[in-house]
Amino acid sequence: MIIDYSLSFKDYEEKILNFYGEWSYPCPSCQAKCWNRHGGYTRHFIVLCNGNLIDEQLSILRLLCRSCKHTHAILPSECIPWGLYSICTLLEILETFLEIQSITKTSAQYNLSWQCIYWFLQKLSVYSSSLELLFREQSLWTPAKRPSLIETISLLRRNLFLRESFFHSFRKYLLLTRKRTSAYFYYMGTDKFTFCCSHIAFE
Ligand SMILES: [Zn+2]
Repeated sequence: MIIDYSLSFKDYEEKILNFYGEWSYPCPSCQAKCWNRHGGYTRHFIVLCNGNLIDEQLSILRLLCRSCKHTHAILPSECIPWGLYSICTLLEILETFLEIQSITKTSAQYNLSWQCIYWFLQKLSVYSSSLELLFREQSLWTPAKRPSLIETISLLRRNLFLRESFFHSFRKYLLLTRKRTSAYFYYMGTDKFTFCCSHIAFE
């Protein structure tokens, strides 16, 4: 699986589906860069649009490595592998919940069961120690300032850069909770990716 952080849902068609040149991705399994297009599949995902949850579809392209014969799907940055909700949608729902402090109101606002919202929260809690490490590394967590849970969620939702740093540091997609997978991951960074995160400030 190739997760391309420079890609979003919106430019997937133009940059991936309509691209017929040489792919620059190294194969996650063998590092070779010799690909053939190898079909694809339709991926459903849920996103927030004007405050409403909507079901979207995306045609995902799969590549075949001519060297090792493994196939790899290319995913845009918002897709949690094997997840239905886009990462920003999931984080925004949690942010609303923590803001208004009412599971009933949040559930009604998004027409979503409270079990689902608590499940999102539980998914995030699995990552709490990794997030603390990441935030310390990026100087967003200091003895003088410890971000609250809502600040953490807000920073993650607003900054692709932080989500990408998370992948880079832990080799795992944030909020991915599938425990057993034999998939090889590879991520393609955005052009501007660096390790400095100092421009991000608390609001
Ligand atoms: Zn390969």
